[in-house]
Amino acid sequence: MTETVLVVEDEPALQETLAYNLRQAGYRVLLCGDGLEGLQLARQETPDLILLDVMLPGIDGFEFCRRLRRESSVPVLMLTARSDEIDRVVGLEVGADDYLTKPFSMRELLARITAQLRRTRLVREELQRLQQAAENEGAVLRFGDLEVDEIRHEVRLRGQPLALKPQEYKLLRFFARHRGQMLSREQILQNVWGWDFLGDSRTVDVHVRWLRRKIEPDPAHPVRIVTVRGGGYRFEG
Ligand code: CA
Repeated sequence: MTETVLVVEDEPALQETLAYNLRQAGYRVLLCGDGLEGLQLARQETPDLILLDVMLPGIDGFEFCRRLRRESSVPVLMLTARSDEIDRVVGLEVGADDYLTKPFSMRELLARITAQLRRTRLVREELQRLQQAAENEGAVLRFGDLEVDEIRHEVRLRGQPLALKPQEYKLLRFFARHRGQMLSREQILQNVWGWDFLGDSRTVDVHVRWLRRKIEPDPAHPVRIVTVRGGGYRFEG
């Protein structure tokens, strides 16, 4: 996947050199010589990295960065004309990730860009991994003495595992995740049995009856899986 670099730099010669070298290195390049236009471009194109000059028409690089950070965490590499400590400190304070002092070597610049993009990629991958892990692991949902353990795919009543058929477990887990909500038979069928299931909604009623025998204190007068007249079922926990 080609990564996009937005270059916000008003000096034509430098803009050209940057564009040439970045394209040679395999990046897609967007060019802009004005702070406000650059900000607009950053919003529209969501680049993977921004190369940002400090002294710019429109708004300067610091103000650019300040505004950008309200809505985006895209890596910003600042290009400062002076080697002032002040510029470096302010740049980092307003949210730049790195900076280079002009004049700089292209090789150095490309190395910094690669490093920034790699860091972003690692963070993104780590987030995805954590999200995936959270989804896979699920949780233990507790309703009084009834526990739906999504980690071990097990249901326990007063601490004792219940012998549930796979479909009963899936049905109860669906109820548990939607506690207090009215669920129609169609909704239940779609979510528990899937779109391609060919049976009818009585399948749901049969499974609810089986579940009630296993988890209701008095299956004839259910308090956990309640029938909603004309609607479907509601799990009260
Ligand atoms: Ca400039």
